[in-house]
Amino acid sequence: MAVSDTVRKSSPIAEADNVRTVTILGSTGSVGTNTIDLIKRSPERFSVESLTGNSNVALLAQQAVEVGARHAVVADENLYGALKDALSGTGIEAAAGRDALIAAAQRPSDWVMASIVGAAGLAPTLEAVRRGAIVGLANKECLVSAGAVFSGEVSAAGARLVPVDSEHSAIYQVFDFERPERIERIVLTASGGPFRKRSRDSLTKITPEEAVAHPNWSMGAKISVDSATMMNKGLELIEAYHLFPVPGDKIDILVHPQSVIHSMVEYVDASVLAQLGTPDMRTPIAYALAWPDRMPAPSPRLKLEDIATLTFEAPDPERFPALRLARDALNAGGSAPTVLNAANEIAVFAFLQHKLGFLEITRVVEECIATLGRQNLDSLDDVIAVDADARRHAQTLCDKIAL
Ligand code: NAD
Ligand code: MG
Repeated sequence: MAVSDTVRKSSPIAEADNVRTVTILGSTGSVGTNTIDLIKRSPERFSVESLTGNSNVALLAQQAVEVGARHAVVADENLYGALKDALSGTGIEAAAGRDALIAAAQRPSDWVMASIVGAAGLAPTLEAVRRGAIVGLANKECLVSAGAVFSGEVSAAGARLVPVDSEHSAIYQVFDFERPERIERIVLTASGGPFRKRSRDSLTKITPEEAVAHPNWSMGAKISVDSATMMNKGLELIEAYHLFPVPGDKIDILVHPQSVIHSMVEYVDASVLAQLGTPDMRTPIAYALAWPDRMPAPSPRLKLEDIATLTFEAPDPERFPALRLARDALNAGGSAPTVLNAANEIAVFAFLQHKLGFLEITRVVEECIATLGRQNLDSLDDVIAVDADARRHAQTLCDKIAL
């Protein structure tokens, strides 16, 4: 038998005869629609089990029909009738509500995209983990919030997390998991967001509309605000800590405004391996969708001769305190990252509703962490309790500041 045959036969994709059953949790969002786009371009590779969305019934039904899904769930249970009507005559099963979302994740599929935004994605993503699925992880908040508890579930179930976040996809592609002790540091690159060059004082009156206009990436509202405060990079620091076996002090952040180098791994011999590409999420999504194979993606090709110049600068934790808050939460461990994430979600939501100033987002997070302190997290129940407590506290702070 040729060596190439041996390699092919040991690949799970070859065993499955190249058809992968797929579920998308959060198919109606930015990552979700990019995932659907890739599936529509390579229909012979995928069979879609279930799609879920929060409230956009029209898009959810359209996607389900286009990819021939067997099942579709809208998380808002008041919209059950609307989804059922939209799918009538298609043979696609409709369901609604939180329990149905969990049930969607439990249905048998080889691969699950976790692209719900925020800690709302934790419970369904864990269901996919518990049945040992390959999980394309876009939802960084669930890993930041549940950290070691989440990773423990992944190991216990023998599930596989393939990162979708572009930085973590880059690291995953160049990380030597056989010899992690030979890695000197990870360098997470950051675009710096839309306010990279602005003074802190000039950010007081930033509106949600300005904050969501990211210079390089087109993304959902929450992550766009996180990019503007640089909390996104803080969350990604904690995400990287849980995905890769290196200590937190070996994970650095480097501002790289062109978003071409998606991240780097430096080895003890001073070799630096990086993954590059144009800023189009369909590349890291395609990597996760096809893993361990590769599949075509229509992302614009990288023409370095056109870009000509790549630049780098150190991040500024004075103007972007989210970086310091996230680093401190990672070092503190226990419930600190859970509080950081929950308080940030509440504050970003208040900002998006014009109820909180841009600079107050990190202030709410900082005050929540200072007030709630740190405790150990031993179980998922602990995580859920801390998350709920932090949300309540952050909401009270937002209401107070808004007055
Ligand atoms: P989005 O807001 O565009 O989409 C979120 C999806 O989650 C939608 O399908 C929405 O219907 C669903 N949803 C929202 N609240 C829900 C709830 N309470 N219950 C059930 N479903 C709910 O967000 P996005 O930009 O696609 O980001 C999704 C996740 O991927 C986030 O965790 C984000 O940090 C991460 N991510 C996104 C990008 C990107 O380019 N957009 C890049 C890297 C990582
Ligand atoms: Mg990212």
